Amino acid sequence: MGAVIRTESLGKTYRRGVTALRSLDLEVSGGEVFGFLGPNGAGKSTAIHLLLDFIRPSEGAAFLFGVPTSRSRVRRRVGYVPETVRLPRYYTARGLLEFQAGLAGIGWPERARRASRMLETLGLAHAAGRLLSGYSKGMLQRLALAQALIAEPDLLILDEPTFNLDPQMRKHVRDLLLEAKGRGATVFISSHILSEVEAVCDRVGILADGVLRRVGTLADLSAGGRSEIVVRELPPTAIEALSVTGARVVLNGRKATIACDGPDQEAEVRSVLEAGGAAVEAVHARPQSLEEIFLREVGPEAGP
Ligand code: ADP
Repeated sequence: MGAVIRTESLGKTYRRGVTALRSLDLEVSGGEVFGFLGPNGAGKSTAIHLLLDFIRPSEGAAFLFGVPTSRSRVRRRVGYVPETVRLPRYYTARGLLEFQAGLAGIGWPERARRASRMLETLGLAHAAGRLLSGYSKGMLQRLALAQALIAEPDLLILDEPTFNLDPQMRKHVRDLLLEAKGRGATVFISSHILSEVEAVCDRVGILADGVLRRVGTLADLSAGGRSEIVVRELPPTAIEALSVTGARVVLNGRKATIACDGPDQEAEVRSVLEAGGAAVEAVHARPQSLEEIFLREVGPEAGP
């Protein structure tokens, strides 16, 4: 399948001179779940607003399904959940979902069937007939997701979804996203909640200060040349010498596991071990969590 989202040197400088996004080149393919990661202020919402043609770029261009985002027909194929959900308070949840399905050209009784299913899955069935003015923030956010999904869009864009969910409901949301993917839809989630993204995304991009720093599968990103050296017997003198290298040493009796951050540090550790007469038992590649990758790219002070 071709690219569902494509940007070419996409950039945005706001009127007061803030450059929120710089030369973004990104492709997301059909059926992918893509995590768009970055700390607050990185430019994620700006990129999403450009994709949806809410704002116009200062440079470059964005395409959805191969056509410029400014073609309004393209947006019909997109479901969107904004960062701040605003829904009309005088609707009931069921009324709103059925109305939305109607706008998308879905007739009866399918409209009602889909609304019921969404309300059920997202734990809103008990409040289906209540006016939204009485809904909590978390309920409104879940309803916004239901609204975005009811017409089974080809592309679902979620801007910093924070559904205030308990673990069980989180699983339901994840299942809904994976179900969308299962029918071939593309899902684009911007987030700073790494664990959420890690659990569902096929690929992630890390944005910081308007620049896309890394993009790839978690496996791609985690293979950063980091390793773990196992030593069966570490002489006490070597421990002090190792502290100079900056590598993290975990002792278990006299056995030691030394975590190295890259090939240079690994070489340094090896030479310290050799000088100290410690025999290396094994060396493993050390996969990184998404959090480690994220912090390395954006710095700990900007972390989630
Ligand atoms: P994120 O979604 O990653 O938190 P945003 O895209 O909201 O980041 O913001 C990126 C940068 O652009 C920030 O410095 C923000 O203050 C600035 N910005 C966002 N919207 C506007 C606007 N309408 N006018 C001026 N600056 C803006």
